[in-house]
Amino acid sequence: MKAGTLSNRIKSLGIMGGTFDPIHYGHLVTAEAARCGFNLDQVVFVPSGRPPHKKEKSITLAEHRYHMAKLAIETNPYFRISRIELDRPGYSYAVDTVSDFLDKYGEETDLYFITGADAILEIITWKNVEKLLKHCKFIAATRPGFHLHDVNHFPKEFMEKIIFMEVPALAISSTDIRQRVAARRPIKYLLPESVEAYIYEHHLYQVD
Ligand code: NAP
Repeated sequence: MKAGTLSNRIKSLGIMGGTFDPIHYGHLVTAEAARCGFNLDQVVFVPSGRPPHKKEKSITLAEHRYHMAKLAIETNPYFRISRIELDRPGYSYAVDTVSDFLDKYGEETDLYFITGADAILEIITWKNVEKLLKHCKFIAATRPGFHLHDVNHFPKEFMEKIIFMEVPALAISSTDIRQRVAARRPIKYLLPESVEAYIYEHHLYQVD
């Protein structure tokens, strides 16, 4: 049975897409702000399996990124995590993920794809973007310093589907956290303690 046919069905769902290498408080604040700001019943974190735009970059094993995200969300009853992009073979395209959620929940559930505004800047290059924008709205979380004029060139029909949301906590970044660990600088208070412990236990981001 589709979740959309249940009486307690999900009316609006956030799909929180990201590489999460690693997940940090900026991501968690973004998801919670989207949940409250857009009345979302749930936010499902979807760590990228094989990001198509990072073919040349070395990223941390998907299982590590998944486990860190799972630890990070465990205290929020409205947050869930999905292995959908880890278990699907090939590159992880947002259009396939949104189609899978649409199949699962049905058309009565409003889908919101939440991610970083810098990622959205490249949306024109994403696979099957017209289909993607037909099936969901986008919540684009902006870091301090982001300028809306960077999206002036977007077609009107794109802009109608993209909502920009300022998130000051996104001053925290995964890149900075990786660099801090490599330089043996502190990462405390930038991410949940459980994730910090996982990073050290599994020797992630360290250079010997
Ligand atoms: P990215 O290029 O690593 O990140 C771009 C910026 O967005 C970074 O500043 C990043 O900060 C931030 N960011 C990423 N996810 C975020 C989130 N959920 N909330 C707030 N800020 C976020 O992007 P990415 O993480 O690899 O990809 C983002 C999403 O776009 C993923 O779901 C990915 O699958 C999707 N995507 C799809 C396609 C496609 O379908 N062809 C192509 C590209 C991206 P941090 O580094 O601190 O996270």
